[in-house]
This record gives sequence, structure tokens and C-alpha cells, in this order.
Amino acid sequence: MSKRMRFLSKRELLDAIVTEVIVCHKCELWKTRKNPVAGEGSPESQIMVIGEAPGYWEDVEGKPFVGAAGKFLDTLLSIADLSRENVFIGNILKCRPPKNREPSPDEIRTCTPYLNKQIQIIQPKIIVTLGNYSTSYIFAKATLPFNGITRIHGKFYKISTLDMQATIFPTFHPAAALYHPKYKEQLISDFHTLKQELI
Ligand code: URA
Ligand code: SF4
Repeated sequence: MSKRMRFLSKRELLDAIVTEVIVCHKCELWKTRKNPVAGEGSPESQIMVIGEAPGYWEDVEGKPFVGAAGKFLDTLLSIADLSRENVFIGNILKCRPPKNREPSPDEIRTCTPYLNKQIQIIQPKIIVTLGNYSTSYIFAKATLPFNGITRIHGKFYKISTLDMQATIFPTFHPAAALYHPKYKEQLISDFHTLKQELI
């Protein structure tokens, strides 16, 4: 019997990226990671949430946002009537930088083709970027000027990049809220704004 050509589903395409990331040695971070964190969530999701890089617990469990910042992210998602089942959560880097240091420009350049592919597969309507790293990365892709998360957070920006149209919603990184109450309030307020857009 001849094999019929068929299109791969979004799930299969996303799983292929997980397989690539598991064996990825493209930057030095594979040497110190325990587990890569490819990202997870619904392939049919209309909303993608993009963080920075795995931290201690994400590295241990191989899942995004499972530590303290992740607990707060769950609260924020629920403010917008969202949950992990109906969003896709990913990161700029798939492997933890040692001691949670900041991602280097080289690591970002090397790892983001995986994120780009995830975005192209999912084709989200809204991309929520958490913090400076993911926001500046997506803004640069869309050739939007980025002058710091404090100035631009909590608003919607329509972009056309990676062969798609989407709306970017930048906000603070939930980890920032763990140390600064001011960011906590702003994050909560931004997720209320996001909820209004989703109604
Ligand atoms: N911080 C991030 O940016 N991503 C995670 O997955 C966890 C913490
Ligand atoms: Fe590969 Fe990205 Fe991990 Fe570097 S951080 S080893 S590029 S998956």
C-alpha cells in the first residue's frame, strides 16, 4: 500500500521541536542544564506567553514557570480568565543559564530559532511578553522601537512578522513582582487590561 502524504498536526510539529531541543548542543548551556525546557501548552492556543529562561525548578522539572514566579503567573492568568490549558508558555532560552544569570546576546541568537518556529506553528493572536528580554526580542523582530518595559507595558501593539499578524502585549516579568510590590500591582492591572481585550 502506498503511503499517503499528509500534513503534520500542530502537536506533531511542536513535538518535533521538543525532540530537537533535547539533543541540542548549539550553545554551552546544554553542559550545565539538568533538563531543557522547550515550553508547553495547547497547540491550538490563541495566546502565547513568553518568559526569559528556565530557573532552578524549571531546570529540575523540565517545565516552564513551575517555581515561585510560575505560581504568580498562574494567578495572573486566572485574572484574565486564562489557565495553562488554554495558553502556550515558552521562553527565549530553552536551557537554564548557570546561577540564573542573564541570557547573553549570543545565546539569544542561537536559541531563538526554536521560539520562532513555535510562534510560526501556533500562530497566536496575542503574544504576552514577560519582562525586558522577551519584549525586546519580539519588538526587534517586528522593528518596533523598544525603550524599556516600564514605558511600553500594558498596551497592545499590532505586528506583522514571522509570516503572521499578531498583537503583542508586553508586561513585567512575574519574578520582578516577588521583590517589588509596585511591579506586582502593575502586573495585576495589566492582566485586567488583557482580560478586557479577550472578552
Ligand atoms: N522565569 C522565566 O522567565 N521562565 C521560566 O520558565 C521560569 C522563570
Ligand atoms: Fe540549544 Fe537553546 Fe539549550 Fe543553547 S539554550 S543548548 S541553543 S536549546
